[in-house]
Order: sequence, then C-alpha cells, then structure tokens
Amino acid sequence: MQYNVAQLLNEPTGSTRRVQLETGPGYSGDLAVAYGGSLEFLRTHQGLLVRGNVQASVVLTCGRCLNEFSSPNQLEVEEEFYSLVDVNTGERMDSVWDFEGTVIDFDHVLDMSEVLRQYTIAAQPIKPLCRTDCGGLCQECGVDLNQESCKCSEDAIDPRWKDLAALLDQSET
Ligand SMILES: [Zn+2]
Ligand SMILES: [Zn+2]
Repeated sequence: MQYNVAQLLNEPTGSTRRVQLETGPGYSGDLAVAYGGSLEFLRTHQGLLVRGNVQASVVLTCGRCLNEFSSPNQLEVEEEFYSLVDVNTGERMDSVWDFEGTVIDFDHVLDMSEVLRQYTIAAQPIKPLCRTDCGGLCQECGVDLNQESCKCSEDAIDPRWKDLAALLDQSET
C-alpha cells in the first residue's frame, strides 16, 4: 500500500488525488485482512492529508466457539502525513525532522500499511463473537453447539458428581 506522491507534492496546496484501495486477503501484522474502498490525498502546507472510507474485512476467531469468521469493518480514515524533504529542493524539512508521526519518506513514497493496521486494530472488539447469539462450545463434551446439540445440559447431575450419585444409589438399595 505504497503510493508515490511526488507529483501531487509539486502541486499547490488544496490539490487532490483519489486512489483506489484494493488488497486481497493478506496479513497486516498478525491480522488477516482485506481492504477495499478509496482514499483522497489532499495537498496540505506540510504534506498530505489522507481521508477516506475504507472497508476492512478481518478474519477473527470467535471467543465462544473458536471458529474463524470474517468481520466487516468501516474505517473512517483521516491522517496527515508530513514531508521529510522539500519535493522541489530535496532539502530536509527541519520542522518534521524529529517528528514521530506519519511521514512521507525521502523518495516521496507514502505508505498506508501501518496507518491502516492501527485503524483496523482499534476497530476490533475485545471479545469477538461470530454472531451475538453464538452458542459456543459445550463445556463438558466440547461439541460446537451451533452445529449440533448434546445431552450434557439435559443431564441434571453435574458429571463430576456422577460417581458419587451412583454410590448413593447403591446404598439406598
Ligand atoms: Zn462463535
Ligand atoms: Zn456436551
């Protein structure tokens, strides 16, 4: 997700470009995600303002049934990138030399990867669920209760007490 923005940096403040964003499923850090949508690059005084509505389809693992599922996210991206060098003179911009934020590198390449990764992470739930009413896994036998049912919950006696219950049965006879 790298864009060479040298040409746009040569244009006056306020100039814009629209770029399409389309990536197949791939890894962004440890998140498997596919991106779609478009971004607008706006020439600012010190660099470029990147804005857009990005669709991020993220593969998550359900916190209840442990199945993987695809979670759609809408990311409202707005991030200003600062030029490290003046596009005309090639001289470094002292004002952003120690800048810790997002920058356009010395080759006038703007890389969206890390910014999108941060937005994507921020959009994820703490405990992902494949659906709000996910049945989860049976705590006794481990079957996926979304797929099949089991008899565990019908059994009034906690299996851990089964042996004891059997002993009690015997003593009563
Ligand atoms: Zn689930
Ligand atoms: Zn069960």
